[in-house]
Amino acid sequence: MNELYLQLPHKCYRGTHNARVTGDYIYGSKNAYDAYEIGSSEDVRYVVNLGPGTKDSYDYSNWGENVELLYEAISCGDECRNIKFCFDCWPAMRESEYCANCHSSSNLFGCVGLRNKQYCILNKQYTKEEYEALMEKIKKHMDEMPYIAQIRNSKHEARNIEYRYGEFFPPELSPLAYNESKAIDYYPKSKEEVIAEGYLWRDPNQREFEVTLDAEQIPDHVRDAEEGITKEIIRCASCKKAYRILLREFQFYKKFEIPLPRKCHLCRYADRVAPRNPFHLYERKCECGGGTNNSQPTTNNGDSSSKSSVVSRPPDRMTSAIRTGKSRYANTAAHFHGEEPCPNEFKTTFAPERQEIIYCEQCYQAEVA
Ligand SMILES: [Zn+2]
Ligand SMILES: [Zn+2]
Ligand SMILES: [Zn+2]
Repeated sequence: MNELYLQLPHKCYRGTHNARVTGDYIYGSKNAYDAYEIGSSEDVRYVVNLGPGTKDSYDYSNWGENVELLYEAISCGDECRNIKFCFDCWPAMRESEYCANCHSSSNLFGCVGLRNKQYCILNKQYTKEEYEALMEKIKKHMDEMPYIAQIRNSKHEARNIEYRYGEFFPPELSPLAYNESKAIDYYPKSKEEVIAEGYLWRDPNQREFEVTLDAEQIPDHVRDAEEGITKEIIRCASCKKAYRILLREFQFYKKFEIPLPRKCHLCRYADRVAPRNPFHLYERKCECGGGTNNSQPTTNNGDSSSKSSVVSRPPDRMTSAIRTGKSRYANTAAHFHGEEPCPNEFKTTFAPERQEIIYCEQCYQAEVA
């Protein structure tokens, strides 16, 4: 890992302009807990990947844009309100449950692919009164006769999962397998774990290609590459599978003088995702040891011998690491906790065993201000 990156403190989460939030990559939000990759949202929890204007929502991923009261919803957004257990419903869907691919409608239940409709159940039209009476019966029935999915692990041991009213669609109805979706990026699992937990797994089709160029043969500089390279079947330098560079890609790389990739697009995607922390929060304490690089060294490891050994050294960051043993960075500014170690605790996606120096927001801001 980058040496400089490891010598400097990092804020316990990535984000700015927030109040009362936990998670990572949070911007301009308040009262957002267990939230990842969100902007301008408030009063939300267990949410991922939300654009601006999301309010009062829970268990919701993708996309936001002036929505409120969304619960257990995926890819629903753009002026939606009071949507539950829905998938890919937008824009302006209202008061609907268990729907997929419906648009600009309200009061739908269990519908697929409807547009500009009201009071439909399983795509059938009802009056408002019929709809309301039936909804009551259906929810009661779903509680009394739940859908039961039987899950088998790799040892063929079976267990049942019951889905009553209030649960999202079972994963066995998902059009995507776990390993084909972004779930595998956010929560990496083995094939065995995926199957044992009742999700789908689909092995990719094995396809054979006759490779015509090794990635190492691609010129270092794009100016030395000819358009003919777009005809080549290239062997990825990392996974050794075949990939191609399309003409428009080639033109783009040429225009901006970007070197041609020696890895296939899947390996490049994996490289981009790898530096992100997994979406999991750990309880940790601020690692700020107190004092500054001009103050007398602190001894938060209780070792007074290290104190005397550094008095003659210049007060730079690395001497701090040596003198305190624990505090690996010497502050450049005074912090609210003075010479004592910072007492703040927080939730962070940086696992305790990671190498980065993790500071609470207050200590981090004191250093970068
Ligand atoms: Zn590859
Ligand atoms: Zn702190
Ligand atoms: Zn501090």
